[in-house]
Amino acid sequence: MMLLLDSQTVLLSLGIGYIFTFVLVSAYWHEHMKAATVKMFFIAKSAQMLSWYLMILRGEIADFLSISFANSILLAGAALEIIALLRLRGELRPMTKMIYLGFTAVSIAGFHLILLVHNEENIRIAYCSFVFALLLLPAYRLAFGKNHSLLLRLMGCLYLLTLAGTLARGAAALFFDASIPTSFYTSGQYQMIATLALYLITIMENMAFVLLLKERSNQELVRLASYDDLTGALNRRTFAERAGRCLADHAKKGAPLSYLLFDIDWFKNINDTYGHHVGDQVLQDLTSRIRQNLGHDDLFVRYGGDEFGLLLPGKDEAASNALAERVNHALKGTMIAGLPITYTISMGVLTLVPDPYTELETLYTCCDKALYAAKRNGRSGTFRGRLPSRSLQPV
Ligand code: GH3
Ligand code: MG
Repeated sequence: MMLLLDSQTVLLSLGIGYIFTFVLVSAYWHEHMKAATVKMFFIAKSAQMLSWYLMILRGEIADFLSISFANSILLAGAALEIIALLRLRGELRPMTKMIYLGFTAVSIAGFHLILLVHNEENIRIAYCSFVFALLLLPAYRLAFGKNHSLLLRLMGCLYLLTLAGTLARGAAALFFDASIPTSFYTSGQYQMIATLALYLITIMENMAFVLLLKERSNQELVRLASYDDLTGALNRRTFAERAGRCLADHAKKGAPLSYLLFDIDWFKNINDTYGHHVGDQVLQDLTSRIRQNLGHDDLFVRYGGDEFGLLLPGKDEAASNALAERVNHALKGTMIAGLPITYTISMGVLTLVPDPYTELETLYTCCDKALYAAKRNGRSGTFRGRLPSRSLQPV
């Protein structure tokens, strides 16, 4: 026996699905009032919800409301939803946004032209379906973008599924109007399958958006917990974790790596002469200059105060000496807060092929001795440490 629900019931359940989102996003929004993206998604969903309710009332309210206005806000809502999603991912350039909004406005105008010159339901359905599908097209970025989480890819796929379903409905309305009733108001199998599919996908998309917000705030928390506030270098804990993995990996491969420890010379004097605020700017200046000389896999840590460390995977003695030289060169002739402040650093450096028992602590202790030797030697120099207890040598 085929279960048939009348169209109004199915549309109504879609409307209820939107209320569900409304409540979920409102609860989130309540705590994140300032998040423009959440606000935009909320408005988009509200517009779509209103649109579905107006459509349910077709025949009982003016056609202007249930056809013209309802379809306009449905398209505008879909556009806003996609914009909110792309914004959430930081993937929306201002130009793309303008083009996208322009396309939406022209599409709505086009719909009204159809209402004026060729107002037939299957043409309206086909037109709106194709425009809707085009509006959903940017979702491919979510599904196939680089480094996207599984959740984001799933969400992109849900939108692409909606796109495919919408295209099929548009094609059916245009070419098989007589055999496949595509109107939501014609009760039957197709109508019920289409509306239920739309219902399920809508609810899944809405839940995925809320999960995505949560995922984003988790990522932000992880970022805050991993990096030093002032300089953006890794903090000790995160560095130790990543460095441990790197040591184990290089022990397995039998590949060399280098470790550098450095500290600003006479940093207290800078603080005392120019103030703590300028001292902070010196720390930021140093980190940005160092970063310009680092590769993608190099790990950069702020141990605290003016002491920093670098773990350079794959770099042998020659490569680490070259990097130390480049860094010293990069620090020459600095201007901080409009003041010609010059500062230098002293470094301890160590190169080794780790074995499975090599510990970061050992590297630190060894480099710390080399750094101390550089300080005693008059500062602004680099000393090389050796494992195990060989002598310290100037580079
Ligand atoms: P040396 O050449 O022996 O390293 O001399 P130094 O004056 O640099 O001595 P040291 O490295 O021990 O000084 C570290 C100073 O860094 C002490 C502390 O006041 C200052 N400091 C620590 N954290 C911060 C910070 O976040 N901002 C600023 N501006 N200063 C800091
Ligand atoms: Mg110092």
